[in-house]
Amino acid sequence: NIILGIETSCDETAAAVVENGTIIRSSVVATQIEIHKRFGGVVPEVASRHHVEQFTVVCEQAIKEANVEWEDIDAIAVTQGPGLIGALLVGVNGAKALAFAHQKPLVPVHHIAGHIYANRLVNEMKFPLLALIVSGGHTELIYMRSHASYEVIGETRDDAAGEAFDKVARTLDLPYPGGPGIDRLASIGKPNIDFPRAWLEPDSYDFSFSGLKSAVINMVHNAKQKGETISKENIAASFQESVMDVLVAKTMKAAKEYHVEQIIVAGGVSANQGLRQRMEAACHDAGIPLSIPPLKLCTDNAAMIAAAGSIGYLKGDRADLALNGNPSLEIEKFSV
Ligand code: ATP
Ligand code: MG
Ligand code: FE
Repeated sequence: NIILGIETSCDETAAAVVENGTIIRSSVVATQIEIHKRFGGVVPEVASRHHVEQFTVVCEQAIKEANVEWEDIDAIAVTQGPGLIGALLVGVNGAKALAFAHQKPLVPVHHIAGHIYANRLVNEMKFPLLALIVSGGHTELIYMRSHASYEVIGETRDDAAGEAFDKVARTLDLPYPGGPGIDRLASIGKPNIDFPRAWLEPDSYDFSFSGLKSAVINMVHNAKQKGETISKENIAASFQESVMDVLVAKTMKAAKEYHVEQIIVAGGVSANQGLRQRMEAACHDAGIPLSIPPLKLCTDNAAMIAAAGSIGYLKGDRADLALNGNPSLEIEKFSV
């Protein structure tokens, strides 16, 4: 099948054409990062307005670059949620208009399922699998018995991993989004500061990053007040190590308990070099195959939405013109 995917849940307006859920024919991403940078984070109203401006341009470009005609397209897949409601509505309503105009089936997609299915664009998925989702708004361990079956076995109780990266980066005066900046500093720093690691209850697969985030912020503020110089590199390296210790240990423990055939890492923070190296080493030691998408498929894009939409299309998931964006769409209830 040939699916047109559309993604507007946050600050990327994206459209892509994907064949059989595995081959990228085109993937166009108009990012608003430069626009939101001066505010230090995504401003929802500004994001919605730019999605409206970019929507048609991005969709037309995706079709043109894919070298397909409308009649070749089997369905339109769109992110229904979670995300910013105003941003989601632009994609959902735009997709409905295109589906109506071209008489195409409309397939609703869960944004996090999209992040997971980014992996299918580069590797075969082997079930049962465990997906570690680490993004701007989510940190979750999801067990998948088969396609489109999601069981959340652990999640963050406060901040998402990406959120912690962004807030710590802000304290270190790094530009938004902060993940890449911390990643770069961490690669030249020494992890010589003992920041807290939140293990929670021994049998829990949940996460917590707010204590760690506060510890870093307090340390930087105290040093500034006393006029002490700090090593941003060492702080970044120590913070990153603290996050990765917990992410990697809990993922590997769950993978063994659930006897999975594959581990998948997905979401924007999976672009992190420290996480990629640590997961590769841990999976190698455990003898469990690992899949992490290439960098441009880690952060928001529409190829991943089309890839997930391809599975939804085959399963018979259909939305009608009453489809609405849902900012807190739950993945377990979404598609079983
Ligand atoms: P969600 O997917 O939960 O709705 P989102 O779509 O805003 O949230 P993504 O686009 O998946 O999030 O990821 C963005 C996040 O990834 C940001 O928090 C950013 O700082 C983080 N990130 C990007 N690159 C890196 C990196 N190299 N290291 C760590 N974090 C990174
Ligand atoms: Mg984004
Ligand atoms: Fe995302």
